[in-house]
Amino acid sequence: MSSAFDNSPLDLEAHLAPYSARSALSRGRRYSEPGPSARTEFQRDRDRIVHSTAFRRLEYKTQVFVNHEGDLFRTRLTHTLEVAQIARSVARNLRVNEDLVEAISLAHDLGHTPFGHAGQDALNACMRDHGGFEHNLQSLAVVDELEEHYGGFNGLNLCFETREGILKHCSRENARQLGALGERFLNGQQPTIEAQIANLADEIAYNNHDIDDGLRSGLLQLEQLADVDLWRVHHASALAAHGPLEGRRLIHETIRRIINALIVDLIDTTRAALREHGPGSADEVRASGPLVGHSPEIAAQAVQLKRFLFQNLYRHYRVMRMANKARRVITGLFDAFSEDSRLLPPAYQSSHVTTQARLIAHYIAGMTDRYAHKEYRRLFVMDED
Ligand code: MG
Repeated sequence: MSSAFDNSPLDLEAHLAPYSARSALSRGRRYSEPGPSARTEFQRDRDRIVHSTAFRRLEYKTQVFVNHEGDLFRTRLTHTLEVAQIARSVARNLRVNEDLVEAISLAHDLGHTPFGHAGQDALNACMRDHGGFEHNLQSLAVVDELEEHYGGFNGLNLCFETREGILKHCSRENARQLGALGERFLNGQQPTIEAQIANLADEIAYNNHDIDDGLRSGLLQLEQLADVDLWRVHHASALAAHGPLEGRRLIHETIRRIINALIVDLIDTTRAALREHGPGSADEVRASGPLVGHSPEIAAQAVQLKRFLFQNLYRHYRVMRMANKARRVITGLFDAFSEDSRLLPPAYQSSHVTTQARLIAHYIAGMTDRYAHKEYRRLFVMDED
């Protein structure tokens, strides 16, 4: 495929395996720009993401535990950094594009609403008659339209491959409206190997940090985890290595072993798949089935862990109470703004490119937890202004 970019004088990607994405072979940006002089196009994407407003907001957005519940729980920002760390480790081992993997990882949750999944579900319900709300599509809207940083265009004007990696899932209906970016959902193709890695790194990160946060919060008890194979094996191995270890040290020694086992399995299994399919280019990766994955045994154990977290943490009555409050805040805001758009800040009162409902969704999705809470009080509590 011909290049959308002039090759940079330094080939910073010369060491990469033939199946990696490369800046020089990128499908390009939506608006053409002069190439960077001392970094690759994907490094430039990564840098734009780090400097974006949406990235800083991740610090005050819920992962599972709402911000004010404690200072030590993961936020969307620390979750995002853990995803990037895991994804880069895998990418370096497979000699694929660490810069692209990092850019995708850092951007993957930019479109998340306040209050985690409860917030997304509530906003999706509010938008039922207006095209719905989906955080992957919202992440894309952030980088394509909503960031206001550059003189020549809206959004961050990222490369096709970064945008494609951000769009992890997409309905066929939405895919049809997305042009080239939606094609793979219609013709059964895969994204780059880098996007596949970032996707699996997301799962490894949250499965592990949610055990840690669940135990820290007291919502999960150590004894419950004895039914989880991954935990049982690595808990025993931590004790075998260190003898009488307890408390936080034992939890960390166990979790670091689980993360390591998952990463090593992912690398080994993916390497075997690459050997078997032998893709000679990023385009051949797209035409193969999924190449990045776990061995059947570890995949089954990861599913078991996920199921455990779903039943025991995400459905814990204290998490459900917080989710219920989140739903009331999001729905209250959406309804008030829909009934009277004059309550919105002027920038969100009207637009000639999108509907009023979508503007409200953009406004709410961009809020941090505490901003949403404050805005709710401003609208519904008499002595707030
Ligand atoms: Mg995530």
